[in-house]
Amino acid sequence: MDREAGDGGQGDDGDRRTTPPPETDDRFSVPLRGVAVDRETRCAHYDDPVDVIAFRFPCCGTYYPCFSCHEELADHDGERIPRSAFGEPGVLCGACGATLSVEAYLACDEACPDCGAAFNPGCRRHHDRYLET
Ligand SMILES: [Zn+2]
Ligand SMILES: [Zn+2]
Ligand SMILES: [Zn+2]
Repeated sequence: MDREAGDGGQGDDGDRRTTPPPETDDRFSVPLRGVAVDRETRCAHYDDPVDVIAFRFPCCGTYYPCFSCHEELADHDGERIPRSAFGEPGVLCGACGATLSVEAYLACDEACPDCGAAFNPGCRRHHDRYLET
């Protein structure tokens, strides 16, 4: 992981935005912010083609592409979505803008039920950063 390597390799996507609180990124239909976020919620830390989801952080009610984005921008520790809220919207598909409940996300077999975009199966390894286990 070569995070913060210079100013990031300008990929083919020039529209990267870092949004400090309390602002949110107006390209999304939900409150969302992060570090060098592209139009499909890839960020400075997770930048693969399949990195197109953002999780809601209940501590601030804001979606972030990853926990590192929350760590860098928020002034508090990230909280995980409690099991009691798994039926509520908690995951954003950056590809189509749909919000999924955590339950729907966990059941979706690594692709968006709305648009079919592939999700990163590797995210599963980090679920405990976002979701109560
Ligand atoms: Zn927070
Ligand atoms: Zn990030
Ligand atoms: Zn989608």
